[in-house]
Amino acid sequence: MKRISILGATGSVGQNTIDLIKRAPGAYKVVALTGGRRIDTLARDAIALGADVAVTAHEDLLVSLREALKGSGVEAAAGQTALIEAARRPAQWVMSAIVGAAGLAPGLAALEQGATLALANKESLVTAGTLMMRTARANRATILPVDSEHSAIFQALVGEDSAAVNRVIITASGGAFRDWPMDRLANATVAEASSHPNWDMGQRITIDSASMFNKALEMIEAREFFGFSPNQIEVLVHPQSLVHALVGFCDGGLMAHVGPPDMRHAIGYALNWPQRQALPVEVLDLATIGTLEFRAPDPARYPALRLAREVMEARGLSGAIFNAAKERALDHFIAGRIKFTDMNIVVEEVLNALIDAPEARNSELTLDVVAHMDHLARQQADLVVTERTTQG
Ligand code: NAD
Ligand code: MG
Repeated sequence: MKRISILGATGSVGQNTIDLIKRAPGAYKVVALTGGRRIDTLARDAIALGADVAVTAHEDLLVSLREALKGSGVEAAAGQTALIEAARRPAQWVMSAIVGAAGLAPGLAALEQGATLALANKESLVTAGTLMMRTARANRATILPVDSEHSAIFQALVGEDSAAVNRVIITASGGAFRDWPMDRLANATVAEASSHPNWDMGQRITIDSASMFNKALEMIEAREFFGFSPNQIEVLVHPQSLVHALVGFCDGGLMAHVGPPDMRHAIGYALNWPQRQALPVEVLDLATIGTLEFRAPDPARYPALRLAREVMEARGLSGAIFNAAKERALDHFIAGRIKFTDMNIVVEEVLNALIDAPEARNSELTLDVVAHMDHLARQQADLVVTERTTQG
C-alpha cells in the first residue's frame, strides 16, 4: 500500500484528491490530512480514510477537532509546528494543496523526508523555487507538477530532449472578466470576480484568474520548475480551457495537451506517475465542441503578466515579494478596501519599493530569508493600501 498524506485536504484540490483516493479502497494508507477551519470535513475524511493524524492549522480549533475525532483512533493536532511535523511523517507521496505561501514550509518538510511531492501549491515555487528544487535534489525527492498547465508541459516532455524545446505556451481562460469593457473592471465586485467561466476552484485562485495573477504565478512557476528562460514562456488566452499548454520544439512541432477542465486529471497523473490509470473524468467530444480559440492576452487588461516578466528576470527574492504583495492585495480586495484594478497597482508599487532592497539581493535562499522578505512585502502592501485609502 502506498503511504500518502494530503496537505490542504479540505480545499478544492484536496477534496479532488480525496475523491480519487476513496475510489481506490485498499490501495493507499493515509498518514496525515491537514486543513484549516473546516473541521467537520477534515474529521469526516480522516475517519473515512483511516488517517493516522488530522491537523488543523488553527490552534484554537484543536478542541473541536478532538471532539469530532473522538473514539475514531485518529490523532488530532493543531498549529504550524504540528502541520510541519505531519508533513515530515514518512510517506511516499504527499499532496501539497495548501493555498498561498503558507504551503512552503510543509512542502519543504515533505521533501526533506524524501517523499514524492505532488505540487499544486504554485506559491512555493514562486517564492522559493531554487530552495524547493535544491531540497528535492539533496533528499532524492521528486516534485511532480499538479497545476494543470505544468502537468500538461510535463506530459508533453515525456521522452523528449529538453534541449530541443524552444518555447512553451501556457493557456489562460481569461477569467471572469475577459469580455468585460475595460472601464467596468474598476467596479468589479468580489462576488463577480469569484466566479470562473470553466473551472471550479478555491476563491483565491478564482479571483487570481480574473486578474491573471494566477497566470503570472504560473509563468514564474514554469521558469522555476522546468528552467525555461523568460523569453521562452508565452501565454495565450484560450476561452475553452481544453488545451492546457503547448510545448514547441526546434523542428517547428508543437505538442499540445488537451483534456477536460477537471483537476482530477492532473492530480491522478501525479498519483499514478510514471504509469497512467483510468480516471473518472469526462471523455471529450471534440466534434461537439467544434472550435478551439486562441488569442494574445491584452497587456492593458492584464498588467500582472508584465510584472511576472520582471520577476522571471530578477529571480532571487523577487518572487517572494511579488507573491506576498499579491496575497495582501487580494486580502484587501476581498475585504472591500481596494478596487479590483488596484491590486495590480499595489503589487507593482511593492515590487518597485523592495526589489532593489539590500535584503532582496541575498543570494542564498533559505526558509528564514524568504519568510523575512514575505513579511516585509506584506507590510509594504498594507502601507500602500493605507496611503491609497486615506488619499481617496
Ligand atoms: P482552497 O482555498 O480551496 O483550499 C486551501 C486549503 O489550504 C484548505 O485545506 C485550507 O484549509 C488550507 N489552508 C489555507 N490557509 C492555510 C494556512 N495558512 N495554513 C495551513 N493551511 C491553510 O484552495 P485550492 O483552490 O484547493 O488551491 C490550493 C492550491 O492549489 C493553491 O496554491 C492553488 O493555486 C493551487 N491550484 C488550485 C487549483 C484548483 O483547481 N483549485 C488548480 C491549480 C492549482
Ligand atoms: Mg493552473
